[in-house]
Amino acid sequence: MPPADPDGTRSGHVHSYETGGAVDGPGVRFVLFMNGCQMRCHYCHNPDTWKQKAGRLQTVAQTAADIGKYAPFLKVAGGLTISGGEPLMQAGFVGALARRVKADHGLHVALDTNGALAGRLPDRWFDPVDLVLLDLKHIDPERHQALTATPLAPVLDAARRLSRMGMPLWIRYVLVPGWTDAEEDVERLADFVAGLPTVQRVEVLPFHNMAAYKWEAMAGSRYRLADTPAPSLETEARVRAQFAARGLFTA
Ligand code: SF4
Repeated sequence: MPPADPDGTRSGHVHSYETGGAVDGPGVRFVLFMNGCQMRCHYCHNPDTWKQKAGRLQTVAQTAADIGKYAPFLKVAGGLTISGGEPLMQAGFVGALARRVKADHGLHVALDTNGALAGRLPDRWFDPVDLVLLDLKHIDPERHQALTATPLAPVLDAARRLSRMGMPLWIRYVLVPGWTDAEEDVERLADFVAGLPTVQRVEVLPFHNMAAYKWEAMAGSRYRLADTPAPSLETEARVRAQFAARGLFTA
């Protein structure tokens, strides 16, 4: 029988690894995709990660050893990004792993999160984290609820708190025609983001529906954005300009 692990600090459900990630934080990164997400974003690219008790059940030690094989390279080239799914669904495991990787290898550690569960964690949980890639989905509470099936307030609370703690933030915003591209919504969002002193950049990510096949493969899920086009270059430029007008660096 495996040892008891009531707080999940010994083992976790891992969906997959990417060893040469170039889009999830600075430099080249080992990206760890954790299982489990409590949101249900219409545009989700990884609905296959939603189920928490799926994927491979691994110990912190096994996972740290897998990352450690690449550590000499990652230390100079980039670091580790823990993503998902939503990594804070397995915060015990993720926190223990981040501490271990930081202590053993001194890697730069980034956390890619929707932020909604951060309020459950003490400040010290974030000690080994160097950067938070914070996904903001929408600035309007009702539209946020409609888009993600979860409330907005805990996400905004997390953004304010992390910034108060001095945590560097990269904000990520998926631009979806008809959902997140309204000029007035982007104005409100840009105002909110500009009020967070530790934001280093805003990543505007144009929607695409290349994940439709994953939704179709999942029983009981309906992909609502099959007919939604990618945003136009003009819209993308306008949204970037709205952030840039507040002095925010956009990528
Ligand atoms: S938070 Fe991320 S993983 Fe979760 S449903 Fe939304 S896009 Fe998918």
